[in-house]
Amino acid sequence: MLDTRNRPLRDLRISVTDRCNFRCTYCMPKEAFGSDYEFLPRANLLTFEEIDRLARVAVSLGVTKVRLTGGEPLMRAGISSLVRMLREIPGITDLTMTTNGSMLTRHADSLAAAGLDRVSVSLDAIDDDVFRSMNDVGFGVRGVLEGIEAAAYAGLGPIKINAVVKRGVNAHAVLEMARYFRGTGHILRFIEFMDVGTKNGWRLDDVVSGMEILRLIHARFPLEPMEPMYAGEVARRYRYADGAGEIGIIASVTAPFCGGCTRLRISAEGSAYTCLFASSGRNLRSLLRSGSGDAALQTTLEELWAERSDRYSEVRSEHTDRPERVEMSYIGG
Ligand code: SAM
Ligand code: SF4
Ligand code: SF4
Repeated sequence: MLDTRNRPLRDLRISVTDRCNFRCTYCMPKEAFGSDYEFLPRANLLTFEEIDRLARVAVSLGVTKVRLTGGEPLMRAGISSLVRMLREIPGITDLTMTTNGSMLTRHADSLAAAGLDRVSVSLDAIDDDVFRSMNDVGFGVRGVLEGIEAAAYAGLGPIKINAVVKRGVNAHAVLEMARYFRGTGHILRFIEFMDVGTKNGWRLDDVVSGMEILRLIHARFPLEPMEPMYAGEVARRYRYADGAGEIGIIASVTAPFCGGCTRLRISAEGSAYTCLFASSGRNLRSLLRSGSGDAALQTTLEELWAERSDRYSEVRSEHTDRPERVEMSYIGG
């Protein structure tokens, strides 16, 4: 099954909640996600059975990798049960989760026992003050580091650690992060600050380019490029010349990778999005709840994918009018 740009469907990213215990300034700024913000009502969230059904159909269409995300996926009650259900679907070779790590110490064992393969943990700085101000709820670095270690101990590694770099905020902390994670076996990845949604006040000037990050680290700890692990890998990989491990750079803004984008995203309320920057999705929840069978669901996904032509990051500069777009916490990163 190919879209209009000959891209197959391979990855399914499922947001299991739009709620989060953090208010990262680049994702859910407090001004927009305050105490009066209305999150999705419980009844609107896909149930685990509905997610399982959707995933089975997606797998029959070519999906091999499934990632649970959010919002913060560990805020969804009973999340390990969902992992257990998805683990039973033949054909899923990679079952992963992206989390802010704040509750991982509590959940790592049950996630691993349920069959999760790996976790990616978001951590933007190793400097406590910088991190606390970036998550904007005062959560300390230590809690996340403990979560990372708990996950590694439970067998959820190698762990990818994702850091969004924003100029004037944590760009100065890049080297310190690289130094901290060298030799730990965890893979640190730097992500360019993206213009997802419309609430994070994104400006091109705030983006620290992947090239700039690379130069910064290379000057202190020499790096060598590595081959991608698989076709369509979004992170460019580099290994430390002294053998202390590898890092990744996800340069979604300055070096877009739409040509290899094989991802379908499902929001917590069951809308399907063929691009992170889409302004609208296809409502699958009503279909799931309509009583029609899997064949109808399959046809809808086939049609959606066949029509797909998205390549937002490659044509970003043409979108200066910034049309309405869904938020990262809603669609899942
Ligand atoms: N709450 C979980 C977490 O933070 O890992 C999962 C959801 S979060 C939306 C997924 C990823 O998106 C995180 O790694 C986060 O850093 C990233 N992200 C959010 N907003 C972003 C932005 N404006 N630019 C780049 N990455 C962003
Ligand atoms: Fe929450 Fe993740 Fe967004 Fe931060 S990036 S506010 S942890 S959903
Ligand atoms: Fe995929 Fe859209 Fe990102 Fe391009 S901009 S890589 S099509 S999600």
